Amino acid sequence: MEAWILKVVFMLFWVGTWIIRYPFNREQKKNTITTDQKTTQEKILLSAAFLGMALIPVVYVLTPLFSFANYQLPIGIHILGFSLILPTLWLFYRSHKDLGKNWSPSLEIRQGHHIVDGGVYKYIRHPMYSAIWLWVILQACLLPNWVAGFSGMFGFGLLYFIRVGQEEAMMKKQFGEQYAAYQQKTKRLIPFIL
Ligand code: SAH
Repeated sequence: MEAWILKVVFMLFWVGTWIIRYPFNREQKKNTITTDQKTTQEKILLSAAFLGMALIPVVYVLTPLFSFANYQLPIGIHILGFSLILPTLWLFYRSHKDLGKNWSPSLEIRQGHHIVDGGVYKYIRHPMYSAIWLWVILQACLLPNWVAGFSGMFGFGLLYFIRVGQEEAMMKKQFGEQYAAYQQKTKRLIPFIL
């Protein structure tokens, strides 16, 4: 498939994710934070995710900088990427909506924080991370480039594997038995499976 079509579709998806997040980001800035775990490690991980999911793919789309690393992908992979777009945007939106003011881009507890265990959080503990895993898979399916295709998976993967345990420990410290019981009832990323 022609590279420009894939680039345009990917950019539309990418802009869509920012449009979805924008109002939630504005809202969460008004929160009073009571526990802040935005350590240097957390800042580095957030930068890695930003680099892999935003900066590198956008540079790939807009400049020829990474063209040395282009390769061909079968059309079936591109179609898989297309078919992931709407489910990913949906889950990304739903998880922001269900978390509401309890969402924050880094590890924080706000004044009035409560455990969300309804909506998509009824089935999994980290639906936003599930949505972002779908996002980085979709990125690899739509950008046939060794650098820009896989940078998202690498950057977010690093953030996810280091952060998820720390996030759950923070929630458990804050909410004790209530979070432990919620953990008992749910899986992390895929309902009933993972
Ligand atoms: N890991 C979740 C949320 C990501 S946002 C997901 O993937 O859907 C990260 C922030 O969400 C954390 O700082 C924490 O304060 C908050 N959080 C995570 N799980 C939560 C839950 N079940 N209820 C309320 N807040 C939660």
